[in-house]
Amino acid sequence: MLIADSSKIELIDTHAHLDSADYSEDRAVVIARTFAEKIGVITVGVDLESSKAALKLAQHHRFIWAGVGIHPHEAKTFDAQVAKQLRKLSADPKVVAIGEIGLDYYRDLSPRSTQRDVFVKQIELANDLDLPVIIHNRESTKDMLAILRKHRPKSGVIHSFLGDIDLAGEFMDLGLYLGIGGPLTFKKNDILRDAVSQIPLDRILLETDSPYLTPVPYRGKRNEPLYTRYVAEEIAGLKDIPSEEVTKASTQDAYLLFSLQDKARQTTQVGCV
Ligand SMILES: [Zn+2]
Repeated sequence: MLIADSSKIELIDTHAHLDSADYSEDRAVVIARTFAEKIGVITVGVDLESSKAALKLAQHHRFIWAGVGIHPHEAKTFDAQVAKQLRKLSADPKVVAIGEIGLDYYRDLSPRSTQRDVFVKQIELANDLDLPVIIHNRESTKDMLAILRKHRPKSGVIHSFLGDIDLAGEFMDLGLYLGIGGPLTFKKNDILRDAVSQIPLDRILLETDSPYLTPVPYRGKRNEPLYTRYVAEEIAGLKDIPSEEVTKASTQDAYLLFSLQDKARQTTQVGCV
């Protein structure tokens, strides 16, 4: 059995940004109600500073884990020193992934050639450290697939997957999981719903991307890990199975990909929740 702590945690939000300034007023309250609903969280850095903040949150809460990495928007800030720092942070057992890394040709906030270069370097770092990658891909699928085929990550997830079943197949052939979040509940996303109805449960991870991408019925408001349940319910409806089945399978997937069990054991701290 993979889940040693299933009495405590029923669901994992595998992608949130709990260090975001959007939570500066009430972060402790948001985290408390997340745990009260038996939801654990992987909080993900986007630059060096937020990666440190993510790890700090993880160190203080048993059911929060961290991803550390440089987002494609921030790729221009990556250098040997940053790589060294990421490696150092990753020595902490609460760091369970390198991410959020990838390509974003929609906003183009770093030059595309820099994005590609920094993405490859961080895949290599993750492989070297035996950690999964958390991948961001926006309007960059052609280059994304080319890079993934050439520089195969050992394991990882395509965060906020929004494509059709053919693209899902391409990523699954590379051994990757698909992160499904709030956009699944948006009216326009029939192609994504069709894909998710066909993607096997053992390839799906639930996520929110909090504070962004809030699912219906809270769309337009700030997102938070608590709303992971709306994503689970939508998937259950599409597959015509009980919501608990989605919850159980996706949580096992998360424990398996991110090796959460061992890390929860190692880092139980007195005085932390
Ligand atoms: Zn994100």
